[in-house]
Amino acid sequence: MVNMQKVAVIGCGFVGATSAFSLIQTGLFSEMVLIDANAKKAEGEAMDLSHGSAYLTPMNIYAGTYDDIVDAGIIVITAGANQKPDETRLDLVKIFKSIIPEIKKRNCEGILLIVSNPVDILTEVALKLSGFPSNRVIGSGTVLDTARLKYVLGKHLQVDPRDIHAYIIGEHGDSELVVWSGAQVAGIHINHFCELRGHFNHEEAMERLAQEVRDSAYEIIERKGATYYGVAVAVKRIATAIVKDEHAVLPVSSLMQGEFGLNDLCLSIPTVIGQNGVEKVVDIYLNNDENDKLQSSARALKEVLDDLDL
Ligand code: NAD
Repeated sequence: MVNMQKVAVIGCGFVGATSAFSLIQTGLFSEMVLIDANAKKAEGEAMDLSHGSAYLTPMNIYAGTYDDIVDAGIIVITAGANQKPDETRLDLVKIFKSIIPEIKKRNCEGILLIVSNPVDILTEVALKLSGFPSNRVIGSGTVLDTARLKYVLGKHLQVDPRDIHAYIIGEHGDSELVVWSGAQVAGIHINHFCELRGHFNHEEAMERLAQEVRDSAYEIIERKGATYYGVAVAVKRIATAIVKDEHAVLPVSSLMQGEFGLNDLCLSIPTVIGQNGVEKVVDIYLNNDENDKLQSSARALKEVLDDLDL
């Protein structure tokens, strides 16, 4: 039986450790198992995280093995490496080829939440290698990018980012796109709201803000070597939506099954998610330009997938 109060984190580097830290603060979990190829690292993180228990909801946090994750409601995978220049996509797929069969072997019934990059490719790899139904394999996708977009738009418009409805869709990466046609604040189209705030040069602003979001990981990596707090909060948001069965709409990466004419690949589209994982990929309105960009984002992902031997 799956235990929704139990979460597993596989890969305890910067992203795994900070995700674990954000997850223990939700109060939603009573058990957390940490796994890393470097067992001592997992042990150290489990010890350190446990020491917050006295001031948080009591939890059993421990370093474990794959046998410990069988009943986990959510299995978060952050194993990988933070964008080492010599690391190829094939190396990263190899890591998944060692992890996912361990999960499959044990007939786990939880939801796989893939965070490792390239996240859309690895979500597809996880789906194929696990044999899980597609609703139970989710990539963090553009949930982080969308948060970044709301943040920069919030600053631009001097408005709470939570009151902005706007999404980044497609690949989590260079070919991602902003759905400006559906972006709004308080039911007002974003361009109109911009004008209320004294901004009239829409084309320039849209290009500049989208670029700022696309470049943000590079900018952070250049300064501190890795990004992890933002994605840790995205992991917390997705996990909360699942455990609380929120039916939240988040741009997670999941298998396309005919949406926008796309099949057999994972990418991000606003999606209703709850305790069963993916409930519905929302068939949002895209204008012609956005649809063209989505199709080329999908083509970029397909080219990579076609080169992989799965
Ligand atoms: P890191 O190098 O700090 O940590 C990776 C960890 O994975 C290490 O502790 C390593 O020992 C472990 N690991 C490697 N192979 C393993 C295996 N087979 N089994 C178990 N553990 C294994 O890297 P990081 O900064 O934590 O980044 C992790 C991943 O997250 C990267 O792929 C990175 O690109 C990705 N990331 C994704 C997003 C997103 O929005 N999806 C954002 C930031 C980073």
